[in-house]
Amino acid sequence: EKFLQHYRLNHLDPQQRTAASTTDGPVLLLAVPGSGKTTTLIARLGYLVLGCGVRPEDILTMTYTVAATQEMRQRFIDRFGKDVGNRMEFRTINSVCYKIIALYGQMGNWIPRMATEGESDAVVRDIYKTLAQSYPTDADIKTMRMVISNIKNRMMDKVQTEAAGFDLPFSAWTLYNDYQAAMNERQLMDFDDQLVMAYQILISEPQILNAYQEKYKHICVDEAQDTSKIQHEIIALLAQKNRNLFMVGDEDQSIYGFRAACPQELMEFEKKWPGAKILLIETNYRSTDEIVDASAKFIRQNKARRDKKMHGVNGHGEAIRAIPVANRLEQYRLLAGMGQTAMETNSPLTVLYRNNDSALPVIDALEKRGIPYQAKGNDGLFFKGRVYLGVMDFVRLALNPRDKDAFMSLYYKLGLFVRRQQAQAAVSRYSKKPLLDVLGEVTGNDKCHDLSRIFASLLTMKAVDALKTIRYQLKFADYLKSCKVGTARLDTLEFLAQEDASLTDFVTHMERLQKIIRDGRKEPASFVLSTIHSAKGLEYDHVILADVYDGEFPVDPYQTETPLVGETDLEEERRLFYVGMTRARKTLGIIRVAGQTSDFADFVFGTGNQGKKNSQPKASASSSKTVAREKTQKWQKEKSRRPRDNDWSKWDDALWDEGHNNAPQWPVRPSAAQSSAKRISSFSGSSVHQVTSNFDE
Ligand code: ATP
Ligand code: MG
Repeated sequence: EKFLQHYRLNHLDPQQRTAASTTDGPVLLLAVPGSGKTTTLIARLGYLVLGCGVRPEDILTMTYTVAATQEMRQRFIDRFGKDVGNRMEFRTINSVCYKIIALYGQMGNWIPRMATEGESDAVVRDIYKTLAQSYPTDADIKTMRMVISNIKNRMMDKVQTEAAGFDLPFSAWTLYNDYQAAMNERQLMDFDDQLVMAYQILISEPQILNAYQEKYKHICVDEAQDTSKIQHEIIALLAQKNRNLFMVGDEDQSIYGFRAACPQELMEFEKKWPGAKILLIETNYRSTDEIVDASAKFIRQNKARRDKKMHGVNGHGEAIRAIPVANRLEQYRLLAGMGQTAMETNSPLTVLYRNNDSALPVIDALEKRGIPYQAKGNDGLFFKGRVYLGVMDFVRLALNPRDKDAFMSLYYKLGLFVRRQQAQAAVSRYSKKPLLDVLGEVTGNDKCHDLSRIFASLLTMKAVDALKTIRYQLKFADYLKSCKVGTARLDTLEFLAQEDASLTDFVTHMERLQKIIRDGRKEPASFVLSTIHSAKGLEYDHVILADVYDGEFPVDPYQTETPLVGETDLEEERRLFYVGMTRARKTLGIIRVAGQTSDFADFVFGTGNQGKKNSQPKASASSSKTVAREKTQKWQKEKSRRPRDNDWSKWDDALWDEGHNNAPQWPVRPSAAQSSAKRISSFSGSSVHQVTSNFDE
């Protein structure tokens, strides 16, 4: 009691106090968002050190990201001071593993070097070329890396891997083995190998295991719902001796399924740790009743969960607002305007979204006006995706008709013109003429000259018109469609290009924007742009959820460039939305884009056809997976029904009339063709379940 009063922790509620002061034995605190899980964990740390005399060095505290470890240390220091705070170990589990491996190395053992991202990418790229006999896109590379990461984090064997239905044009197990062999040969390890290696060291080197078990008298883990199986195993090994393990989590906030998060471990905590105390808190101290009630109701749609009764203590506030906008791009103008006002009046506002792309146009507008802001979690993947790189190939060839790389890329990436041999013959014969003209000579098709004139004409247009020509007349949109990639990023690019006078300006503009995204704007500011993933565990007074409509959120796996492991899980999408809603303290706004349906927004505002949506569809539709599939098919149908722009160029059919290629068919890369077929069939395989679903069993 004295301790609590001294450190102004007497505001902790009785359950929080129990959690903070039960320092003996395993404890699991399962609690709703904003219920003070992190607050309690920090209070417990203070209590251990200042109340029980435990040395700060003897406590290991882990959380999910490096940013979160820093945030935690800061919160600890704010409450208990710097002297103790700086001696505490706040780590990610990878950093713990790194230490274990380093110790193993100090004992005279050889350890591989950490690979750079580029080195790991190069290894999977080579494997793809061998196994698929074609070139991978960046998205393919990311998918392969994610599959390998999943195999390691879920500790899957051959049978499990083969049953998992990973979305690859070849065996995931072969990929995994080839990758490990190649990495070994190069004496490299990746981020997940750190986990695997540390785990192996702990089970095979009793000396090291013992040293760590002795060292850490207490182990605390925040955000435990996103810990993977191998991470749980490592934590269990470290905590086995003293059994002073304190885990904090909320399975409703598990949002890292794609990184193999394993929340069912929390459900089985008692089995693993007999005699464990399980504490539940259902009070939300963060938000107004409106936000608490709406989000509690929203998450209740999920089937695979333990029901909780979240209630608030802050009383009524403002109703959740629907913010209507005419279209997606209009929304970005509105948000940029709001950002400007927020910064000028120094009033806080946070915009959260599912996909980093949502921030780009807003960031661009603010940068142009020289308005500061904070952006969190932007990965710059937009600039590495097929849409952007494809457009840039057209642009490069327009700017330099002799650019062999761009020319061949158009062949590789787009299958634009002819057979590869013909393209290569043109490249090898190229002289002073534009490559497209040379191609005409090689193939005897004079339409290539028209094509080359169109490319030349791009230079005389405003950037936005040039992009439209690439999209429609040069049929880039058709190509994307054949790859089942959505065109939202083309819209975004055209939006960004609005004020660029020429393609040259556009290129400079994009390079600048890319650099801004890469460097990031991390300094705190009143106006915050963040993905929901990066806002996890944090809270903000005023929150707006952007780009909330079907296909975007929940995401439609068929229309996104973002690679997904397995299929999306509607329940995980709901958890993500729930995390977004529960970040808000005082007000919450949800953007409604006119003409776009949104089941999520409809549910929150009580509009739309809720009864029907919640009823069980026919047959075996009881699992969330089936619901997700039906929904995806619905989007799919809607999208194919959309009117097409019929502004095809006249020369185009003639170009294809060459005999060897009668039908204007885009040569689809084998991987894309196979993987889409696989995606569809994998929906019906019950084995997929094992990998992607967290609670269904
Ligand atoms: P999340 O699930 O989002 O990570 P959390 O459970 O970790 O949330 P905290 O971030 O610890 O919750 O706390 C949420 C807010 O509630 C903070 O502003 C905190 O100061 C406040 N809070 C926590 N416990 C109490 C309490 N007993 N009385 C009043 N306010 C509290
Ligand atoms: Mg927290």
